[in-house]
Amino acid sequence: MSKDWQAIRNEFPLLSRSVHGKPLIYLDSANTAQKPAAVIEAVDEFYRLHNANVSRAVHALGTEATEAYEGARGKLARFLGVQSDDLVLCSGTTMAINLVAYSFALPRLQPGDQILISRMEHHANIVPWQLVAERSGASVVPVEIFESGELDLDDLQRKLQGPAKILALTHVSNVLGTVNPIREVCRLARKHGVVTVIDGSQAAPHRPVDIASLGCDFYAITGHKMCGPTGTGALWARQEHWQAMPPFIGGGEMIKEVRFERTVFNDPPHKFEAGTPNIAGFIGLGAAVDWLSAIGMSEIEQRERELLEYATARFDAISGLRVYGRAAEKAAILSFLIEGAHAHDLATLLDLEGVALRSGHHCAHPLMHYFGVPATCRASLAFWNTEDEIDRAVAAIDKVRTMLA
Ligand code: PMP
Repeated sequence: MSKDWQAIRNEFPLLSRSVHGKPLIYLDSANTAQKPAAVIEAVDEFYRLHNANVSRAVHALGTEATEAYEGARGKLARFLGVQSDDLVLCSGTTMAINLVAYSFALPRLQPGDQILISRMEHHANIVPWQLVAERSGASVVPVEIFESGELDLDDLQRKLQGPAKILALTHVSNVLGTVNPIREVCRLARKHGVVTVIDGSQAAPHRPVDIASLGCDFYAITGHKMCGPTGTGALWARQEHWQAMPPFIGGGEMIKEVRFERTVFNDPPHKFEAGTPNIAGFIGLGAAVDWLSAIGMSEIEQRERELLEYATARFDAISGLRVYGRAAEKAAILSFLIEGAHAHDLATLLDLEGVALRSGHHCAHPLMHYFGVPATCRASLAFWNTEDEIDRAVAAIDKVRTMLA
């Protein structure tokens, strides 16, 4: 039976508002997702009824808070097809990748080693690697892409045969929508003993992700793109990696015993979670994954595929508009430019029409350089968008195009 997508959309309070006197058309979910009432209510209920710190107090509220926080870890683990103890909670993908870079990679990297990074990475999967490369004497080596936005697997295979130690790759590009063949890439990397770090920021919100079946070493997600609160995310790794890694950040919660002579660290995942976490945020994220699971990630993937097909045909019909990223396997992201118009001017005028989309480099400077442009506009769709919104956005783009021509 097909889903009632309109009823699902109605669960997002914010989507019924207007901006500049026009109904809002939110096409910026790759930047951050809107939140359904179930998530907002879970956060509200925590602060109204259960607020306490986790893992410290024996009083009833402390126990409730700890159970709810650990319960959220369990929900997220089930959602991603992994064990809860292998999931370290942190503030988002940025923190997750820094954790792997500093705690796992830095102690292992030697001068002359290479860290492979695809040309389509977000800065969060580039800059941490440059920082540890600088400290270790390793170097960062880009893996090329094609004009279509697809990864050049031959180039990857060649580079895997060199002194590569780490391969950092996004599952789905936040600019081009390219879905990378992660299983195949991880298989190739394993053959050469190269450790894989996968950035799942744009994958987990839009398709079923079963991390255990991907064959990667590390997988990072960020909660705010999955209809959860900001400041939530996670890094998955196998226990053997966690056991072998030193803590990244020290403080309370991550220890068993502290003496001035020596500190005994807590077991993973807690060993990597120093300080008071974003408790309410993770409870909200737990509610988000429950809510997404009730809709079904396969249904969400299918619905977004329909919306992408519809939008691509409509965008392609706009005179002078070029879409960047034509991968055969693609998520619902349309980066585009219109001949003669600057991306920021387009986005600013579209905002006045009620259309919220992002313009800029999308935290992917090397990708912008590859295409020889300083910026693009990016319409990122989600299951809550409608064909009618796409029609209205296309009409607005066409109107703005003639104003800027
Ligand atoms: N990687 C990708 C592909 C992203 O799209 C983003 C968010 N724009 C990030 C990493 C960083 O996520 P966060 O800022 O939530 O840590």
